[in-house]
Amino acid sequence: MAEFSLDEMRTAHEKLEARMANACAQSNRPSEDVKLVWVSKFHPMSAVENALALGATDFGENRVQEAVEKFSVKRPGIRCHIIGPVQSNKLKKAAFVADCIHSIASMEAVEKLEKICAEADKTLDILFQVNAGEEATKSGLDIREAEPFLLSLENHVPCPHLRFRGLMTIGKNTGVAEDSRECFAFLRHLQQKFLAHGGVFASFDQLSMGMTGDLEVAIEEGATMIRVGTALFGERDYSTKM
Ligand SMILES: *Cc1c(COP(=O)(O)O)cnc(C)c1O
Repeated sequence: MAEFSLDEMRTAHEKLEARMANACAQSNRPSEDVKLVWVSKFHPMSAVENALALGATDFGENRVQEAVEKFSVKRPGIRCHIIGPVQSNKLKKAAFVADCIHSIASMEAVEKLEKICAEADKTLDILFQVNAGEEATKSGLDIREAEPFLLSLENHVPCPHLRFRGLMTIGKNTGVAEDSRECFAFLRHLQQKFLAHGGVFASFDQLSMGMTGDLEVAIEEGATMIRVGTALFGERDYSTKM
């Protein structure tokens, strides 16, 4: 599969921006409220360079190693988001390369990250992933575990090097965007509830939800970050191992 040329990517980005603008208008939200994370996983550095030329500032990778290969050389104003599950032994690398990790789902990971970031003298934004789509194969906190888990963060040892920024989920992925509305709405309710708590949740203002197939529904349900790969970079070629 050929990668998009710069012109093809420009066209794809324009189409996507129109979709985003339309969804924002539908839901009376200012377009600045929704950040676009360009999911460059499985695409080469040349694709990242094209995206940068088009003004991309936020990139999403779901594998730590691939993120390290592409984003360990920091560029001013460019942020790397880790959006896939991170094995315990990869948390250190993830913490070094990422500006934000979207996929935290255990107290063990929180504790490790706090330790790693304290040693590195770094503050890291994290989101908690909730398996709101309730599919057995997906990672994240079980929908019934999510609230007690978040509550337990409050009574936990302080994590001064982590900023709890909000929640992330993957929609139902049935091919029908509307199927994800309920789980996106669930996520928003949970996030709003904890933001209202204040304390360790004082900056819990982010909702990472919506991908190529369901971003309009996610924006309507309050997404502040959408994670888009296919609509910007074209189909992924999973046969290439980076
Ligand atoms: C791959 C991926 C995306 C992007 O999916 P597209 O359908 O290509 O837009 C978003 N979020 C996560 C967690 C992913 O792994």
